[in-house]
Amino acid sequence: MAAKKNSGAGRRVSSIERILGRLDDLDSANLTILVQRLARERGLFEMLFDTIDEGILVIDSAGVIEYSNRAGMRMIGLRGNDPGTAVLWKLVPDLARSLDFLQDDGLAPNIARDAEIFYPEHRWLRLQISRISLGGGEGVPARFVVILRDITADRESTEEMLESERVNSIFTLAASVAHEIGNPLNSMKIHLELIRRKLTKLDVPEKSAGTLKNSVGICLEEIARLDDILKNFLGAIRPQKPALVKTNLVEIVIDVLGVQKIELENRNIRCSMIQVCKELPVVLGDESQLKQLIFNVTKNAMESMQDGGSIAIELDCDDAFVYLRVRDSGCGISRDDISKIYEPFFTTKNNGHGLGMMIVMRIMREHGGQVGLDSTPGKGTTVTLQFPKPGARARMLPPTK
Ligand code: ADP
Ligand code: MG
Repeated sequence: MAAKKNSGAGRRVSSIERILGRLDDLDSANLTILVQRLARERGLFEMLFDTIDEGILVIDSAGVIEYSNRAGMRMIGLRGNDPGTAVLWKLVPDLARSLDFLQDDGLAPNIARDAEIFYPEHRWLRLQISRISLGGGEGVPARFVVILRDITADRESTEEMLESERVNSIFTLAASVAHEIGNPLNSMKIHLELIRRKLTKLDVPEKSAGTLKNSVGICLEEIARLDDILKNFLGAIRPQKPALVKTNLVEIVIDVLGVQKIELENRNIRCSMIQVCKELPVVLGDESQLKQLIFNVTKNAMESMQDGGSIAIELDCDDAFVYLRVRDSGCGISRDDISKIYEPFFTTKNNGHGLGMMIVMRIMREHGGQVGLDSTPGKGTTVTLQFPKPGARARMLPPTK
């Protein structure tokens, strides 16, 4: 019964595979039948792909679109005869600047980008790009599948929701409760530190003092964790308009790394910073929000490594944008997880709270910027923070080809 039900694409494909296995025996009449069958199969799959709401494209490493389903064509304004010639980077100019590593044959990155497009209409798209293996071994050109989701409505409804009066009053209440929790925590921390200091001076056997000190240490660590959650929670629910002033990102990075110095050392992580462009990477930003942003990104980079590793921070600019890239040699992000990173409370850590990247996204949006994620499981992740360059001419948006 079950076998009978399995009609349609799956069964037909396996029958084609059987014929392919006997390819040498085929005469021209059977070959014609095979070709017709393959054409029918292709038609069926294309029809299936055309019923999906998400855009699905296949591109090569130069960005040439080889296939697009109907939703993809609609989203980026492709015309019927475009596949095979149109280049994705030209249709979605936001993408072009940070995808050069697609040329790198050695890597199989998972990439997530939000891009604003203005043609055929103004929309926000979330693109997820993954390398696909079509078999054939070495020398076969790399292919990538691009999944496009229209997130315009999501962005608008999130913003509307954040602005609604009811939500605002709940946020205010939650913020004041969180704030109230912060004070007793602070006082507990001070008293525990006092106890720890007094323990050193007390005349008790070394062993008991050690156990007590250990317990106090654990309490202090837990308080630090609660404090961290509170800070992130407050940051997440109290979206404040940034006070934008010209800020040099180098100074902000140095400040944040200063705060994280001990943790970096304890985790045996080498951290470097280089400035690629000659001019100073200056952005219009809110200093404390920029610090929180970079702190969250570098903290995740640290937490992605079990036994030490490296974090390389790169500052760069071109005529329109300033880029801050944080590359880590950590565990990487899987294809399934990369699309969930910005969701509130999404975490893969035992003691994570899943708010960090949501805050990163929010702060970047408030600064008119974008976040890009490029990750290779097992090798590491690069988070790219792309800021508009102060004074750069507003971007022209030609639907060039
Ligand atoms: P949390 O750090 O509390 O888990 P975040 O919002 O900061 O929450 O991150 C969400 C998830 O994104 C993490 O749990 C992790 O799975 C993934 N992630 C973020 N940054 C990295 C990174 N640099 N390397 C690997 N995974 C990451
Ligand atoms: Mg985090």
